[in-house]
Amino acid sequence: MCIFCDIVEGKIPSYKVYEDEDVLAFLDISQVTKGHTLVIPKKHSDDFTQCEENDMIKVMQAAQTISQHLMMSTNAKGMHVLSNVHEAAGQSVKHFHVHLIPRYDKHDACVIEFQESEAQDLAALQQALMMK
Ligand code: 5GP
Ligand code: ZN
Repeated sequence: MCIFCDIVEGKIPSYKVYEDEDVLAFLDISQVTKGHTLVIPKKHSDDFTQCEENDMIKVMQAAQTISQHLMMSTNAKGMHVLSNVHEAAGQSVKHFHVHLIPRYDKHDACVIEFQESEAQDLAALQQALMMK
């Protein structure tokens, strides 16, 4: 059982901001900063080290495009692009994902705390950030 495969299949709802044949991007349920997005291959692979080449290329291309869009939409001044590999590095969901975490200020690292976001806040953000 994999919760991100369930999200791909629509069994678990998500706030999607981008989708194509191979890639899905949706808002992280715990918004480290405003616009925190996860980019995943639709096809399951356990982590960054296991993802096959074609999916890796597609995920990273989408991550780049989404980052540009996020920066413009949110006026973020920077962006973390990262993927945790294995529990030792903080990976909690074993389906490869790239975190896009907009940075607004040098000091907003203090915002990094994992609290579940309100559905209404995520829905409003989704509307603002959805890629047409
Ligand atoms: P990791 O800790 O594996 O690098 O990141 C997993 C991320 O998935 C976490 O930031 C967590 O908030 C997010 N997450 C876990 N479950 C769900 C879910 O059901 N929906 C969404 N949108 N994000 C989730
Ligand atoms: Zn999966």
